[in-house]
Amino acid sequence: PTPSGNRPDIRSRNFSFELFPPKTADGLDKLKLAVRRLQAVGPLYFSCTYGAGGSTRERTFETVDWLREQGIETAPHLACIGSDKDEIGAIVRRYIDEGISRIVALRGDLPSGMGRTGFGTFRYANELVEFLRAEFGDHFHIEVAAYPEFHPQAPSADADLANFKRKVEAGADAAITQYFYNADAYFGFMDDCERLGIDIPVVPGIMPITNYSQLARFSDACGAEIPRWIRKRLEGYGDDRDAIRAFGHDVVLDLCRRLLDGGAPGLHFYTMNQSAPTLRLWEDLGLPTSAA
Ligand code: FAD
Repeated sequence: PTPSGNRPDIRSRNFSFELFPPKTADGLDKLKLAVRRLQAVGPLYFSCTYGAGGSTRERTFETVDWLREQGIETAPHLACIGSDKDEIGAIVRRYIDEGISRIVALRGDLPSGMGRTGFGTFRYANELVEFLRAEFGDHFHIEVAAYPEFHPQAPSADADLANFKRKVEAGADAAITQYFYNADAYFGFMDDCERLGIDIPVVPGIMPITNYSQLARFSDACGAEIPRWIRKRLEGYGDDRDAIRAFGHDVVLDLCRRLLDGGAPGLHFYTMNQSAPTLRLWEDLGLPTSAA
């Protein structure tokens, strides 16, 4: 597509794909197939999630190792809650040895029954970012999480913004947002960032819609709003998966278009280890492939 006005050229924007570490050998085979297909369009990098407290550590390593063996630019996620500095430091040194220079630094979610601050050395993601900068200098390009609809535990929107600013001041280079389906939430968040002097790129996180009950469960847990009109339509499709996918595609395609037209610095797709929904969006957005 032709860039309009003074918006950045689509080719200078940052498109990335998120994976989660599969639990089974079959899941790993499916992930590999999905990555091969997704890799063909030339994203900037793939990221891979990490369970707080080290719950997915070995599986995250396995996925990250495989991605690196393919020569793929990889950004492991690192969630600090429930871990101490030695444990986090050892993981980070492992990644440095593998040639990794990009990391997604997170607090992670507290296991149920723990207090608000949990245990371990780190209470919040800004402390992890501070640690990474103090120990490893500028080695990493550090991404942090941002919440256009605000984090569910934040006492207020202003408090959440102040906490986001702490992560930026600690040394984050860029942010990826929680998913959302209301473009105005993102643009409002960007206005707030500008007001607070936060000028790092904030890349919208995009969740394709393929499965309503799973999406509703995730959204309730992470505080991402599914607008009522979308919820009602999806509920109405019942078990008709084709109808859910078709409607979901149209909704998310329109969201992506609005975000890119409004100047978003890129898109980060929560692929759920599937290639088809993301590739369909990619194609219908007219995004370039690396070969183009
Ligand atoms: P923080 O930035 O620490 O914020 C958490 C809460 O504490 C917010 O309410 C904030 O306002 C508040 N807060 C922050 N700093 C302070 C402070 N200094 N004082 C007082 N309050 C403060 N989870 C995983 O377990 N593994 C993953 O791989 C993973 N990947 C993710 C990727 C993306 C792009 C996103 C958006 C989320 C991801 N999550 C992941 C989920 C994330 O860990 C949760 O949303 C978690 O609840 C918050 O993590 P955070 O890094 O945003 O925390």
